Amino acid sequence: MPFRALGLDAKILQAVHEAGYTEPTPIQAAVIPRILAGQDLIGIAQTGTGKTAAFTLPILTKLASLIGDGTRRGTKVLVLAPTRELAVQIEENVRAYGRHLPLRIATVFGGVGERPQIDALRAGTQIIIACPGRLLDLMSRRCADFSGLQFLVLDEADRMLDMGFLPAIRQVVQSLPQQRQTLLFSATLSKEIESLTHEFQRAPKLVQIGRRSNPAETVTQLVYEVPKHLKPALLAYLLREQTMNMVLVFSRMKHGADRIARRLEQDGIKTATLHSNRSQSQRLRALKDFKSGDVRVLVATDIAARGIDVDGISHVVNYDFPMHVEDYVHRIGRTGRAHAVGDAISFVTPEDQDELRALEKFIGRGIVRKKAEGFNYSQSAPPSEPDSGARHRPNGQRGGSRPKSAPSGGPKPRGSTSGGGRHFRPR
Ligand code: AMP
Repeated sequence: MPFRALGLDAKILQAVHEAGYTEPTPIQAAVIPRILAGQDLIGIAQTGTGKTAAFTLPILTKLASLIGDGTRRGTKVLVLAPTRELAVQIEENVRAYGRHLPLRIATVFGGVGERPQIDALRAGTQIIIACPGRLLDLMSRRCADFSGLQFLVLDEADRMLDMGFLPAIRQVVQSLPQQRQTLLFSATLSKEIESLTHEFQRAPKLVQIGRRSNPAETVTQLVYEVPKHLKPALLAYLLREQTMNMVLVFSRMKHGADRIARRLEQDGIKTATLHSNRSQSQRLRALKDFKSGDVRVLVATDIAARGIDVDGISHVVNYDFPMHVEDYVHRIGRTGRAHAVGDAISFVTPEDQDELRALEKFIGRGIVRKKAEGFNYSQSAPPSEPDSGARHRPNGQRGGSRPKSAPSGGPKPRGSTSGGGRHFRPR
């Protein structure tokens, strides 16, 4: 089905064409006509499916007909998102798709000065993209005018609930007009999400793309079984030996992310980090350097990476196995975006095996085990800092006490011990 069959405004179609999209993704084909028809909607779709455009394109189409028709001033569209990164990315999308419309757009999130945001809101803006906490703050100071609001979007609603935003969301929604169209997007449909939809929506239509637990089908999933102390070496080895152009590495912990990055930098691999201990400007900088290709590797924690919309990620590496199976789906959704393909690599230690089995049950299939050809699995531990997953292990050991050996993996690492093949070290 071509985009022009969906009933979008000509200026929006032009922007879609300029973005290089040739046909709508399944979620876009399913939800755009429904949103244009004025329905409330629950969209269950994984990241990377094109869901931002799925809600933005029809909303902008409707907004295009309102602009200049003398309707009252004030904000018409409010998009709530869990993280600053996601808010910024939604803003980039809205600006791109709305580039031929005279739109004023404001983003509102914590961690940066309020003044510019307050000024933007007071100057009047048709679209606000916001994280709930800071928005509530500014609303309590009467900075926003939602009396003419027509569209509310809750993006990544499951993650907003996980992050404890429900009270803030409730307060925000209470001060919005009842007469509005409400769209809710979530990767999963839990009981909590269902009760949220009852609370905020009217007779919503449910659109579910793909099976709930089915990771994006364009992603090749691989498992590398590796003892915990060799994870740093294996990562450096793969980055050196394989064609991995744009790599997103997941760490469970913030300090773990920093450690992985330091280690890769020592190996001469340019690396950026993304986690909540970094300032907003550092995070935006990290994303910018990664997007532009200045750095090849971005190490991130789950929450910070949530909603990252970077085209062309060639590999996702689960350096630490995800805590929750849903996180796995989110993580690997960072590659293979829309119609592209990508690889998702998971490092699995002996301690992770139960979680791996649970994951395979959840996604309904086994994941191929792979060995890094030429990597010495029997080398002893480097004198490195502790592994980032250690704090989560019942008997988590810290790598610092291990004997000295090679700083990184490689075809002929120094300090290697006997034999080849895969041997898990006894704990
Ligand atoms: P999202 O799921 O909204 O995060 O979008 C994932 C990626 O797909 C983004 O990088 C979009 O730019 C891209 N995208 C969205 N719609 C399309 C489309 N119809 N064709 C190709 N790429 C698209």
